[in-house]
Amino acid sequence: MENPVLENPGYCPTCDQEVTFIARNKWFRDHYVCANCGSIPRERALMLLIDQRFPNWRSLSIHESSPGNRGASTRLSSGCSNYIPSQYFADEQPGSTVGRFRCENLEALTFADESIDLHVTQDVMEHVFHPSKVFREIARTLKPGGAHIFTVPLVNKQKPSKLRARMATDGQISHLEPPVYHGNPISDKGSLVTVDWGFDICRHIFESCGLFTHLVYIDDLSRGIRAEYIEVLITVKPIKVAAQDAIP
Ligand SMILES: [Zn+2]
Repeated sequence: MENPVLENPGYCPTCDQEVTFIARNKWFRDHYVCANCGSIPRERALMLLIDQRFPNWRSLSIHESSPGNRGASTRLSSGCSNYIPSQYFADEQPGSTVGRFRCENLEALTFADESIDLHVTQDVMEHVFHPSKVFREIARTLKPGGAHIFTVPLVNKQKPSKLRARMATDGQISHLEPPVYHGNPISDKGSLVTVDWGFDICRHIFESCGLFTHLVYIDDLSRGIRAEYIEVLITVKPIKVAAQDAIP
């Protein structure tokens, strides 16, 4: 086994204990793992933000689209009694239960308006074909005060976001850039990257659904959080304010 590039003790937000973090490859985003639970930095950053911003997450209704089988997905699943994991199965009825998942298409959710406290997605938004529809559906179904907390690789940084692939109404996919696939736990083929996002994703979300998004950057070795493309995004649905309480 290769010698560690980095090894340090710290607190792991996804398995909630003191652990050793270790990287045997310089690409920390995929290789700086928790020796106890196998989580990677972006999963720990997302869970840390949920713990900090929504410390009552155990009692909230949380929907996670396309969860992983470790890290934040595992902690949310075991700690939250109203955790709803979903996958999209094209041949199944949306809203139905398939194994341990609810079948949901992010572009047309079956959840009622204002029924979900937290939508969670981890490296999903770079694979959707109609991001504006997804952001509108997330905004529609969030309760006031709720949020979409998510990671997505902002590979374009200051450069404008760029579409890589398009889907026509007949389902035909056309590639605007050479196809790139990421690993997908439920498909051997992997998931096609449809958008190279930059920091302007926040403006795109606002223009899609009218909600503001915070971009949070954490670099904290004591929690095993250091990597390229480590931003966590939080799109917040405002709490309704009574007219007499509005700030003039
Ligand atoms: Zn861990």
